[in-house]
Amino acid sequence: MAVLLSTKTAVMAVWRDALLALDPTLEIRMFPDAGDPADIEAAVVWTAHDMAELRRYPKLKLIVSMGAGVDHLLRPPGPPPGIPVARLVDRMLTSQMGEWVLLNVLRFHRQDLEYRALQRERSWLELPAPVTAERRIGILGLGELGTHAAGLLRGLGFPVMGWTRRPRQVEGVETFHGEDGLAAMAGRSDVLVCLLPLTPATRGIVDARLLGRLPRGAFVVNGARGAHVVDADLLAALDSGQVAGAALDVFDPEPLPVDHPYWAHPRVVMTPHAASITIPASAAPQVVDNIHRARAGRPLINLVDFAAGY
Ligand code: NDP
Repeated sequence: MAVLLSTKTAVMAVWRDALLALDPTLEIRMFPDAGDPADIEAAVVWTAHDMAELRRYPKLKLIVSMGAGVDHLLRPPGPPPGIPVARLVDRMLTSQMGEWVLLNVLRFHRQDLEYRALQRERSWLELPAPVTAERRIGILGLGELGTHAAGLLRGLGFPVMGWTRRPRQVEGVETFHGEDGLAAMAGRSDVLVCLLPLTPATRGIVDARLLGRLPRGAFVVNGARGAHVVDADLLAALDSGQVAGAALDVFDPEPLPVDHPYWAHPRVVMTPHAASITIPASAAPQVVDNIHRARAGRPLINLVDFAAGY
């Protein structure tokens, strides 16, 4: 029985070696060289892989996403019916995202855009001191990534709030859920951080209505998926001053077209979907564990809940 790997050519061999280092008996097939379709029992795939293609493997027992997000795997046609999908829950993915969120919250909190503009003008001007205890952070999504980022921000002394699908308690974080909870949290979020999965319920959630609820001059930090944000609404809010700045790692589509207004916007800071990048050696143990579990018929870990969409 074999494991099918499918990702960018540049990292395919790195993934193969990371899996083989943990279990040298695994037979790895690198897409498109799948060999006999009847040999494939697990598929470890990244965004570009066509889910319809996975219907070719009659003995497939498990699909593993090479990232934390699975929206690309669940969109139509979706995985073959009845085949479980696991995602990555990885310490290094989580810590990288925490760093990226901190970087951008601090960038806005410490008036970095303003100081860079002043530097370009050779202008020696001190701005009012920012008060950490008064800069309220609202995080959309308190899962693996959101909870970790919340802890880092709390550690620096920011008041932190979080919004989830189900009621949730997180130490030191004021939590909200549901439509009313979202409105209440947004009204007090000086910085709105999006760390939600992309699902039908969260697509376009950062729209004119939500942005209009933020305190005037708030900041938006999106490390989740581009389609969470309605770009025209964010650009309008930036241009009106309702939103004072946005840090964006993710876009719809990616790569962002070169003529998109974000590229040159003075109040937008961009990274190319690089906030948190999967490191195969770190992610491999849970993938191999799941392959062994699937073979033995034992319960799988980090499974996607198809009904919830993440
Ligand atoms: P988790 O599944 O651990 O957490 C998701 C959180 O979002 C949970 O708190 C969940 O609520 C909440 N949520 C989901 N749907 C809703 C909803 N409809 N309303 C309110 N809250 C909701 O995900 P992760 O933290 O691991 O990852 C989050 C996302 O980050 C990924 O899906 C991916 O898209 C993105 N990502 C981006 C990366 C990058 O480099 N830019 C890298 C890695 C991930 P509840 O607690 O009730 O379940």
